[in-house]
Amino acid sequence: MEIVCLDLEGVLVPEIWINFAKRTGIKELEATTRDIPDYDVLMKQRLRILDEHKLGLNDIQAVIAEMGPLPGAREFVEWVREHFQLIILSDTFYEFAHPLMRQLGWPTIMCHKLEVSTEGRITNYLLRQPDQKRMAVKSLHALNYKVVAAGDSYNDTGMLSEADKGILFDAPANVIREFPQFPVTTSYEELKNEIRAWTPRQIG
Ligand SMILES: [Mg+2]
Repeated sequence: MEIVCLDLEGVLVPEIWINFAKRTGIKELEATTRDIPDYDVLMKQRLRILDEHKLGLNDIQAVIAEMGPLPGAREFVEWVREHFQLIILSDTFYEFAHPLMRQLGWPTIMCHKLEVSTEGRITNYLLRQPDQKRMAVKSLHALNYKVVAAGDSYNDTGMLSEADKGILFDAPANVIREFPQFPVTTSYEELKNEIRAWTPRQIG
């Protein structure tokens, strides 16, 4: 009755917006919450820029498919699913995650949703609920699961705190410094070892 919860971007796949900006050469799309702290303002700006460049959901998904998962991510996901139940908890959108989920063998993912017009224009975004990563772990606890969680950034720390064990994966120095309670890993092998150390079962 153990569940592994993993963040998506920075853990299994590259940062979607940053990579999308690089691949399309649209400099303005490189802005993140570090530049524009108000997420709603940032997202509305991103959607406006996509519109200005006449990029519909199909074009965007094609670029995202090219990114592919991080090296070794698919094998790591297979290892997790052989030994545990896996849920990916992400603040991206189903429509963006879709091409990458195909490459990861369709694991379960909980994230947010886009509103798309019949012509494929992205018209809005819908956040499923605030603090959704933490809420998911809380709910799994209510269902009597034990949870180990791994993520790389600030938006994961609620989930990591709520989990029975929280692990940082490839996190930036400021996150590591601010959250010294979480073990730090930088490779899938290290992450596996932290998970193996947590479960009372003997696993390969
Ligand atoms: Mg992340």
